[in-house]
Amino acid sequence: MIFGGLQKTTLVDYPGKVAATVFTVGCNFYCPYCHNPELVLPELIQKHPQISEEEVINFLTKRKGLLEGLCITGGEPTLHSDLISFLEKVKSLDYFIKLDSNGSQPKVLKEIIEKKLVDYLAMDIKTSLEKYHLVTLNQVPKENIQESISLIKNSGFDYEFRTTVAPEIVTEEDIWSIVDLIKPARAYFLQTFKGIKTLDPRFATLSGLPEEKLKQIITQIKPFFKECGLR
Ligand code: SF4
Repeated sequence: MIFGGLQKTTLVDYPGKVAATVFTVGCNFYCPYCHNPELVLPELIQKHPQISEEEVINFLTKRKGLLEGLCITGGEPTLHSDLISFLEKVKSLDYFIKLDSNGSQPKVLKEIIEKKLVDYLAMDIKTSLEKYHLVTLNQVPKENIQESISLIKNSGFDYEFRTTVAPEIVTEEDIWSIVDLIKPARAYFLQTFKGIKTLDPRFATLSGLPEEKLKQIITQIKPFFKECGLR
């Protein structure tokens, strides 16, 4: 695999573990608020420095005992046909693995779960199913999203769902539709929108729901989840 980034240490990406994070390149969604355009837009990917799988594996081999886990995020990691073999290599080094996904490839998630190649799954729930076309541009069937949610909930691994409360994409009503879609579940987090750098530059000028409102919503939706909070 080729990666677009390696963060050598993180205390926040993998709950409870000291980890590193790798970023895969390419995505089949187009979330206008995405803050990693260099990992999504083909013209920017070409100009972005690349890191080989060998470099990542060498790094992990040297850091054995110092790092506990590896987070794999994107872009969208499940688009890469060599993800499975990469996961196998990382597992053979005895690392815990957290995989972030947009849930568009349930077949890949199923294989990963069946082969027990991860320890933690995190899926972004972008918005209510009715509005998913705003981020998929109708390129991914909604059924894939539903299937991935179900696979993750029944995987037996630790998992979380999370939603970036982006302007225009996620309203209070959408949050309630998402809750209906995923409840009951182990963990659900709302993430505040930060319009610093966005795929669609227009979104950098917009504001999402205020933090106070999000805290209020969390109080109401908390009973449906073991863990629920604002990030
Ligand atoms: S936010 Fe995630 S799913 Fe959306 S375009 Fe960016 S990398 Fe892809």
